[in-house]
Amino acid sequence: MSYLVLARKSRPQTFAEVVGQRPVVKTLQNSLARKRVAHAILFSGVRGVGKTTLARLMAKAINCTGETETPPCNACPSCREITLGNALDLYEIDGASNRGIQEIRDLKDKLRFLPTSSRYKIIIIDEVHMLTTEAFNALLKTLEEPPAHVYFMFATTELHKIPITILSRCQQYELKRVPAAELSSHFQRLALLEGFEIESAALALIVREAEGSVRDGLSLLDQIFSFGEKQIRTEDVVEVLGLVDREVLMCLTAGLLDGDRAAALLALDEIFAFGMDIRRFTADLMGCFRNLILTRIEGCNSLLDLPEQEIALFKEIAFRYSLETLHMKLNLLMEAVEEIRYSAQPRLALETAFLKIIESGNVIPVAALLGHLEEMLQKCRNDTPPTASPSPSQGAQPPASIKEQPQPQGQLYSRPDVSENAVVQAPQAGKESAPPPTSTTAVPEKAATLTLPESSPAPSAPPTAAKNIELHPHERDIRRDWPDFVKYVQGQKIWMAQDLQRADSVKQTDQELHLRYSDPVNCALLRQKENRQFLNEYFLDFFQKNLKIRFIIPDQQDAAETPEADTPQSKRQQLASDPLVIMAAEVFNGQVGDIRVGQQSR
Ligand SMILES: [Zn+2]
Repeated sequence: MSYLVLARKSRPQTFAEVVGQRPVVKTLQNSLARKRVAHAILFSGVRGVGKTTLARLMAKAINCTGETETPPCNACPSCREITLGNALDLYEIDGASNRGIQEIRDLKDKLRFLPTSSRYKIIIIDEVHMLTTEAFNALLKTLEEPPAHVYFMFATTELHKIPITILSRCQQYELKRVPAAELSSHFQRLALLEGFEIESAALALIVREAEGSVRDGLSLLDQIFSFGEKQIRTEDVVEVLGLVDREVLMCLTAGLLDGDRAAALLALDEIFAFGMDIRRFTADLMGCFRNLILTRIEGCNSLLDLPEQEIALFKEIAFRYSLETLHMKLNLLMEAVEEIRYSAQPRLALETAFLKIIESGNVIPVAALLGHLEEMLQKCRNDTPPTASPSPSQGAQPPASIKEQPQPQGQLYSRPDVSENAVVQAPQAGKESAPPPTSTTAVPEKAATLTLPESSPAPSAPPTAAKNIELHPHERDIRRDWPDFVKYVQGQKIWMAQDLQRADSVKQTDQELHLRYSDPVNCALLRQKENRQFLNEYFLDFFQKNLKIRFIIPDQQDAAETPEADTPQSKRQQLASDPLVIMAAEVFNGQVGDIRVGQQSR
């Protein structure tokens, strides 16, 4: 006896045997039970999901004469004829090879006569989208007013190619890809019936390859059964189907993410040695990244359609990286795949792309980075004892002479202003006791600038003016939301926003908001009484706080006392040792390239 392929052997003979497609099956069965079957039905969906199977089952059920509640009975003469394939009143037409108008005319001629042995004539046209426009037009009239003894069943993989005039005359059923779990249990059952035992990982591979198509999966199973072994192991499936081993793929994915160049390139070598189709392989690799991204997004696990243990494996890797990192790597990979398509040297192109992906590093979300910065600033504040010596986060001890400097607790960091009395003295004191500034000895200076007390612009004001200001939770809002506030002001008065942007620093003290300007010209307009009122109003509107706004501008007298502080060189030096700059360089893992001071810097 000739060998019958699994797909034909296991073709469902009842609606209950259909794999997947439950909603469609239920609707069809209900229409049969209520005798309300449409005269033209169109099944659409990807290959191997059961379109023709359902059409044949409907043909059987419509003509079934058996005594059963759920036709087809598979026992009556009509059912048996259809099963054996010699039913006279069932026409199965392949739309691809009978696509012309003449074939449709011939068919229409046949439909004029009543069925020979069954109750109805049933026409199944597979791949109906292949019909020519004329052929479709010839069908139109018949579809609109079909003879009472005729039923049409159409099947198509390309619904969009069917003229709308035909679609509107048919009852449409869209068949979905079969979920992995259903395919898996179906294949398992068939394997057992055939006397094979499949490892669960091997089964998962077959299901993955089937991509929701029952027939594809069955063809693969056929191929593996022909391999001969009764115990089917994962290695066998990998070998027979020419797949990339999951392990190699995972190894490569991890290598790309961890920045392990050797692991990635060696895995690629293994894949090439295996003779794997490059397009196939890159698709698998992208699939891996997609799975990682989906596992990383909460609530998306249902989209994965993978066995539990594989999801767990993906989760383990995915949660080591930010979603942004995974996304960026996938994007780079997709770009590479696009390039490889036209490359004469796909291997070289792929290796280069892998190195590029690795070199791209990991993405830290801006929010996390800001959080990190915030943490460091907080630490900076906490490290400083409330009454005595200031010490920056770097842990360097400032010279003793600075220890006496008052430490404003609530100070938002601001750039050192050389024109202020207290400010200038601190670094000077540091310089006196410290060795000449080099890259390593810049620390004391840094310590000094960080502890600059904020006082009123008047030199006569005691340096303790800003002392003991509590850190209010809302202070952070002013700093964080300042750019938003400037934007808000921009909506009211553009010039005012521009002038606000020119401020060197902004900070809130107890009851006041200090806007520091190194160049008084920049705030001259703002300081006018009526503009000040506007600014006060905007501030109140935006921050819901009524603070007195004070402009802090350099005092000429002070500047004269500390002439060297005004030189661009010293300014640059101070900026270079600015804790915020150092911290930013540390957080972004960068270095200061150029420091510009003076008017041009703006
Ligand atoms: Zn029957």
